[in-house]
Amino acid sequence: MRTHTSVWSPDALQAFVTGSPCYAAPGGVVSARLLRRRGDPHEALDTLVAGGALQRVRRGWYRLPVADDDVVTAVAAGGVLTCVSALAFHGAWVPRGDIPHVRPARETMRLDAGVHQCSIARRLPAPVVAVDPVALSLRAASNCLSREYLVAAVDSALDSGLIRRQDVADALWWAPNRGHESLAETDWAQSGTESLLRRRLKGLRIGVRVQVAIDGVGRVDLLVGDRLVIEADSVAHHSGPDAYRSDRRRDLLLTTLGYLVLRVSWEQVIYEWPAVLQAIRRIVDAGEHRWPR
Ligand SMILES: [Zn+2]
Repeated sequence: MRTHTSVWSPDALQAFVTGSPCYAAPGGVVSARLLRRRGDPHEALDTLVAGGALQRVRRGWYRLPVADDDVVTAVAAGGVLTCVSALAFHGAWVPRGDIPHVRPARETMRLDAGVHQCSIARRLPAPVVAVDPVALSLRAASNCLSREYLVAAVDSALDSGLIRRQDVADALWWAPNRGHESLAETDWAQSGTESLLRRRLKGLRIGVRVQVAIDGVGRVDLLVGDRLVIEADSVAHHSGPDAYRSDRRRDLLLTTLGYLVLRVSWEQVIYEWPAVLQAIRRIVDAGEHRWPR
């Protein structure tokens, strides 16, 4: 006869949730189903909940008193965090969103209001972890994001080392909206703004190279022709007085070397694109993006 002895003392369980790697209890939320793989957690969970060390989010899911708001909202709504929200949680760039994107725990389930229900369109086992991994999240995002945003999210996930190129290919191979095609459009980019600029300029057949090394300056984000440098400013990458001073030094040096420098913000790419394009076009049409002969 087999006897089941649980490894879950209250102390062991609390240590697991508070100190575990993010793939087990991401954002401070854990499922009883995951814990059950190492023995019955029932009594330890009851003890921790009674003592206030854990709180029940919904049946079978528990949170620390301090937990990630989006993760808790997703689980409370009846699913797990996925898609753009999970990508942001893992540290990838995604366009700013308003409400958490959530994958229902069961395919037939309707989620509570206040979250966006994402479609994965393939049968998956019920989730045991509160945040979907990067590959699955990219797959969900191929349904929720426009192509240019998906490319920017993939650029960022690759650049941040969150996923390997082959794993992106596997994840997007069966994605909706021909998501697999976005892989061919990915490139080296250090910000979402940069990805969007590159893709839009290439789409308009304006020749652009990314992350070009210039002697004495370092790498510039984008180079159109020989001498039009476009730097994609983002709050995340260009905040603080040191970054501000460093950017100004680079601009001065580039101008001294004969380059034209255009700094473009995320807001300008999204909300003022015609004006940005007009500025780039004027330079290109006048041939000023080439060295004078
Ligand atoms: Zn989504």
